[in-house]
Amino acid sequence: MVVRRKDCKFTEFNFKSSLQWRSGVELPEVNCPNFGAHPSVNKNWVMDSGGNSLPSGSDGLKRKVSYFYDPEVGNYYYGQGHPMKPHRIRMTHALLAHYGLLQHMQVLKPTAAKDRDLCKFHADDYVAFLRGITPETQQDQLRQLKRFNVGEDCPVFDGLYSFCQTYAGGSVGGALKLNHGICDIAINWAGGLHHAKKCEASGFCYVNDIVLAILELLKIHERVLYVDIDIHHGDGVEEAFYTTDRVMTVSFHKFGDYFPGTGDVRDIGHGKGKYYSLNVPLDDGIDDESYQSLFKPIMGKVMEIYRPGAVVLQCGADSLSGDRLGCFNLSIKGHAECVKYMRSFNVPLLLLGGGGYTIRNVARCWCYETGVALGIELDDKMPQHEYYEYFGPDYTLHVAPSNMENKNSRYLLDEIRAKLLDNLSRLQHAPSVPFQERPPDAELQERDEDQDDRDERWDPDSDMEVDDDRNPVPRRVKSEYVEAENKDAESYHKHVDSGRDFVMPFKEISCSKVSGVDSMVVDESYIKEEQDNLKELSDHRSR
Ligand SMILES: [Zn+2]
Repeated sequence: MVVRRKDCKFTEFNFKSSLQWRSGVELPEVNCPNFGAHPSVNKNWVMDSGGNSLPSGSDGLKRKVSYFYDPEVGNYYYGQGHPMKPHRIRMTHALLAHYGLLQHMQVLKPTAAKDRDLCKFHADDYVAFLRGITPETQQDQLRQLKRFNVGEDCPVFDGLYSFCQTYAGGSVGGALKLNHGICDIAINWAGGLHHAKKCEASGFCYVNDIVLAILELLKIHERVLYVDIDIHHGDGVEEAFYTTDRVMTVSFHKFGDYFPGTGDVRDIGHGKGKYYSLNVPLDDGIDDESYQSLFKPIMGKVMEIYRPGAVVLQCGADSLSGDRLGCFNLSIKGHAECVKYMRSFNVPLLLLGGGGYTIRNVARCWCYETGVALGIELDDKMPQHEYYEYFGPDYTLHVAPSNMENKNSRYLLDEIRAKLLDNLSRLQHAPSVPFQERPPDAELQERDEDQDDRDERWDPDSDMEVDDDRNPVPRRVKSEYVEAENKDAESYHKHVDSGRDFVMPFKEISCSKVSGVDSMVVDESYIKEEQDNLKELSDHRSR
């Protein structure tokens, strides 16, 4: 079966049923279940049939948030006309800085994931290929390009491999912080690339940072829940964990003649994993109310029955109204309600990015959701900042949904909800795994804890790339310019950031006129706490 990819104007996509779990992954053994229990986790939380949504900021339970951001990430450029724009991560960061949110969280530059980190899920030859390919050499490797599905939707661009290392490093780093109880919520808006497969790029995704982060979480937690609110099916993550009960995947997505073609409500997992994959197929124009009429009852039931030790929420913003590739009609508040709801369970939470192609709305959404994570409500009136002109004519954080038709009838929504709740009712108990010795952390942590490196990590002027041996390598990153988005051709999208004029956000923030944002430098109280936490953990282990 061949499905025309909606978000791919170049290629046809060979439909691969998720029943062909080609890239299943070897799971780490878990350590003793209660070790590393998260300090803020209330193990006796009680389900409330009305939903546990917290009025932001008034629940008296602030969360400690670690936020991963690499100032280089906005410079990677998929190529002219390509809808995926890493620049949106930099726009999000600028909004966070100017809304004054950075000072409320631990801001971390991710440690680049190394080959061996990526190979915990991906095939060695695929990783070697990604490391070696360049725009200049790709013509000599046509067979390999085809084999690994690189070249069209997933183009070769300058710095491709370091881009992968950066976004994967942020997600795995977030999992490490959660595992060590250093934060309640970790955020990596550059991550969430849910389509990547074990030996294949797909849907603008090269390495699957989500699978890698979940593997890290599984070292501490018996069960990890993955929730995906991107408009596209979270196929790469589902496939990786299709035959295990240690990861439950739940994806809400547009289904029917739409990339990637998988995610039927009847795809429920296989073998030990049967009933541990949930798919919520939706149609065009879904609005906030319809979406939440499924999200809350289903996720409430999942939390009650599965009782995960950690939750990974992929917050793809292409499910927002007006997305360049999407066809849903969610408001930013409707999208963020999913974050608010999952946060309300007080379980360690990893928030990741994903799709999102009307980039001004992506930045709005992830900024607002960072506020939700922190329990801070943000003014609708946007502060002045370097990308302010993107947000005209209203210069507001929120945008009204459109009047498009909602093709999801009440009857169909009720039927889908009933079907999924019925599947869940077949799971009487949360599965457990035997006690094991704790597997070592991903090696990222070595450097993460290395005090010698801390200054370099935090140096706002440092844009040095290093190789595996930490020797500097020449800059390979091309600065991005912003092209007009062809869907709505906004005249206020200026061509900015030519290489010469490009200003590092860190630099700008450090001499910023905005009050409070100079705390972009490391928060000393957090460092101390982090050291104490790590010491406590190593004491615990040696006992
Ligand atoms: Zn998507």
